[in-house]
Amino acid sequence: MITTILWDVDGTLLNFTYSQELALKKCFQSAGLMITEEILKRYDRINDSYWKRLELGEVTKAQLLIGRFQTLFEEFGIENVDLERFGKEYQQELGNIYQYIDDSCNICQALRGQVDQYVITNGVTLTQRNKLKLSGLDVWMKDIFISEEIGVPKPDPLFFVKCLQKVTEKDRSHILVVGDSLTSDIKGGIQAGLKTCWYRPNGTVNETPWVPDYEISHLNQIFTILEHSLLN
Ligand SMILES: [Mg+2]
Repeated sequence: MITTILWDVDGTLLNFTYSQELALKKCFQSAGLMITEEILKRYDRINDSYWKRLELGEVTKAQLLIGRFQTLFEEFGIENVDLERFGKEYQQELGNIYQYIDDSCNICQALRGQVDQYVITNGVTLTQRNKLKLSGLDVWMKDIFISEEIGVPKPDPLFFVKCLQKVTEKDRSHILVVGDSLTSDIKGGIQAGLKTCWYRPNGTVNETPWVPDYEISHLNQIFTILEHSLLN
């Protein structure tokens, strides 16, 4: 029986791609730079690779926040940008823009009373706290765990150890991790002995060794999983 859900945020409860695109456009504009579809696409790739490297412990969070823009600007021959300032402004904008995935806020609201809900996210504290507050999602969460505050990112086992110390439910088989990333949410959840649910709305194929207990293509399928878990 599932009593507790640990939610990933970006790409699971909130549309990260949407926030990222708008925030980038705003920052480019305020720096007096032109932005193209090509730059947006390339940034997405560069950013992804930096986050993967962070998961692997190859770069620090501080290196990621600046490095992704440095790499992008170098590739496109964009010069004379105050990277520090650009990065800060971007982070702020990112926290001001949100879009729900699959009516996530109402789904979390409907789950209240049925399960305890927590957030587990690798984002930046300022950005994530802002976004969760503005979107109203924070109201339904018993606690919010952000990697920057925890000290290590998902899927590091220590991240889960520290979160679980604060989670009320102590039986790990009653805790479900829901997230869109196989390499951070699902891998981390499995390694921590938790139940896992992979959110994959676009039919991505799992090419990793990490096999989740459940797969969903719409967040409202979580209700079926909870019903099903009552029988087990
Ligand atoms: Mg995610």
